[in-house]
Amino acid sequence: MILNGCAYEKEVMQVLSRGGWPAACPVELRTHVNACRSCADMVQVTASFQREREVAASAARIGTPGALWWRAQLRRRNAAVERIAKPLMGAHLFALFVCAR
Ligand SMILES: [Zn+2]
Repeated sequence: MILNGCAYEKEVMQVLSRGGWPAACPVELRTHVNACRSCADMVQVTASFQREREVAASAARIGTPGALWWRAQLRRRNAAVERIAKPLMGAHLFALFVCAR
Protein backbone atom coordinates (compact mmCIF):
# COMPACT_ATOMS: atom_id res chain seq x y z
CA MET A 1 0.00 0.00 0.00
CA ILE A 2 1.43 3.32 -1.08
CA LEU A 3 -0.11 6.48 0.37
CA ASN A 4 2.22 9.25 -0.76
CA GLY A 5 3.36 11.07 -3.82
CA CYS A 6 0.20 11.60 -5.86
CA ALA A 7 -0.92 15.07 -6.95
CA TYR A 8 -4.61 14.12 -6.72
CA GLU A 9 -4.41 12.81 -3.17
CA LYS A 10 -5.85 15.97 -1.62
CA GLU A 11 -8.81 16.05 -4.03
CA VAL A 12 -9.56 12.39 -3.46
CA MET A 13 -9.48 12.92 0.31
CA GLN A 14 -11.89 15.84 0.01
CA VAL A 15 -14.37 13.76 -1.98
CA LEU A 16 -14.05 10.90 0.51
CA SER A 17 -14.48 13.12 3.56
CA ARG A 18 -17.65 14.62 2.09
CA GLY A 19 -19.01 11.11 1.55
CA GLY A 20 -19.32 11.71 -2.16
CA TRP A 21 -17.43 8.69 -3.38
CA PRO A 22 -18.15 7.48 -6.05
CA ALA A 23 -21.48 9.15 -6.93
CA ALA A 24 -20.47 12.80 -6.51
CA CYS A 25 -16.92 12.34 -7.79
CA PRO A 26 -15.93 13.99 -11.11
CA VAL A 27 -15.31 11.56 -13.95
CA GLU A 28 -11.69 12.67 -14.38
CA LEU A 29 -10.91 11.99 -10.73
CA ARG A 30 -12.63 8.60 -10.86
CA THR A 31 -10.61 7.71 -13.95
CA HIS A 32 -7.43 8.74 -12.16
CA VAL A 33 -8.29 6.65 -9.10
CA ASN A 34 -8.85 3.62 -11.34
CA ALA A 35 -5.36 4.12 -12.80
CA CYS A 36 -3.44 5.22 -9.68
CA ARG A 37 -2.65 2.56 -7.15
CA SER A 38 -1.94 5.07 -4.36
CA CYS A 39 -5.35 6.74 -4.70
CA ALA A 40 -7.14 3.40 -5.17
CA ASP A 41 -5.64 2.12 -1.92
CA MET A 42 -6.59 5.32 -0.12
CA VAL A 43 -10.18 5.05 -1.40
CA GLN A 44 -10.42 1.40 -0.38
CA VAL A 45 -9.03 1.96 3.12
CA THR A 46 -11.09 5.09 3.78
CA ALA A 47 -14.30 3.50 2.49
CA SER A 48 -13.69 0.47 4.73
CA PHE A 49 -13.20 2.66 7.79
CA GLN A 50 -16.32 4.68 6.97
CA ARG A 51 -18.40 1.49 6.62
CA GLU A 52 -17.08 0.09 9.92
CA ARG A 53 -17.75 3.40 11.67
CA GLU A 54 -21.36 3.34 10.45
CA VAL A 55 -21.80 -0.26 11.63
CA ALA A 56 -20.30 0.56 15.04
CA ALA A 57 -22.44 3.69 15.40
CA SER A 58 -25.62 1.79 14.58
CA ALA A 59 -24.74 -0.96 17.07
CA ALA A 60 -24.05 1.55 19.84
CA ARG A 61 -27.54 3.05 19.87
CA ILE A 62 -29.05 2.63 23.31
CA GLY A 63 -32.72 2.91 22.42
CA THR A 64 -35.47 5.37 23.12
CA PRO A 65 -35.43 7.49 26.29
CA GLY A 66 -38.73 5.92 27.39
CA ALA A 67 -37.35 2.40 27.22
CA LEU A 68 -34.17 3.49 28.99
CA TRP A 69 -36.21 5.10 31.81
CA TRP A 70 -38.42 2.02 32.10
CA ARG A 71 -35.38 -0.29 32.40
CA ALA A 72 -33.85 1.96 35.09
CA GLN A 73 -37.10 1.93 37.07
CA LEU A 74 -37.35 -1.87 36.81
CA ARG A 75 -33.73 -2.27 37.95
CA ARG A 76 -34.31 0.09 40.91
CA ARG A 77 -37.49 -1.75 41.91
CA ASN A 78 -35.77 -5.15 41.75
CA ALA A 79 -32.92 -3.86 43.91
CA ALA A 80 -35.41 -2.55 46.50
CA VAL A 81 -37.25 -5.91 46.58
CA GLU A 82 -33.96 -7.75 47.10
CA ARG A 83 -32.98 -5.36 49.93
CA ILE A 84 -36.27 -6.02 51.74
CA ALA A 85 -36.47 -9.76 51.05
CA LYS A 86 -33.30 -10.65 52.97
CA PRO A 87 -34.40 -9.32 56.42
CA LEU A 88 -37.90 -10.74 55.89
CA MET A 89 -36.47 -14.21 55.30
CA GLY A 90 -34.49 -13.88 58.55
CA ALA A 91 -37.64 -12.83 60.42
CA HIS A 92 -39.55 -15.78 58.99
CA LEU A 93 -36.83 -18.19 60.07
CA PHE A 94 -36.73 -16.64 63.56
CA ALA A 95 -40.54 -16.89 63.88
CA LEU A 96 -40.45 -20.50 62.70
CA PHE A 97 -37.71 -21.26 65.26
CA VAL A 98 -39.72 -19.61 68.12
CA CYS A 99 -42.92 -21.44 67.15
CA ALA A 100 -41.19 -24.79 66.85
CA ARG A 101 -39.96 -24.71 70.45
ZN1 LIG B 1 -3.37 9.22 -7.51
